Amino acid sequence: MSQWKSLPEPDTADWEKLCERCGRCCYEKFDYRGRIFYTNTPCPHLDVTSNSCRIYHQRERLHPECARLTPDLVKAGILPADCPYVKNIENYSAPLMDEDPF
Ligand code: SF4
Ligand code: SF4
Repeated sequence: MSQWKSLPEPDTADWEKLCERCGRCCYEKFDYRGRIFYTNTPCPHLDVTSNSCRIYHQRERLHPECARLTPDLVKAGILPADCPYVKNIENYSAPLMDEDPF
């Protein structure tokens, strides 16, 4: 079975439970030549003290730029390498920080 397929079904309680609410994927990102880079700019709805989203259950309505996490988005390389959704995926290409040398 592929490692991607070993993830729980999206939109289930098991899928949601994987998230440790660390907030690291809630920082602005950009794509440079096919690589995703994290910036140091948090989403305006992220409480940077608790790392929690202030609008989590309404985020799709109040902040449409916040995409619901799907298997395709997981594969797109937007999550840090130790995020539970990707940490067991071999050859996963995690985002870089924008100060990393190109
Ligand atoms: S990086 Fe992973 S564990 Fe952290 S908030 Fe994002 S999805 Fe959840
Ligand atoms: S709206 Fe989305 S990106 Fe912004 S803090 Fe909430 S979960 Fe994170």
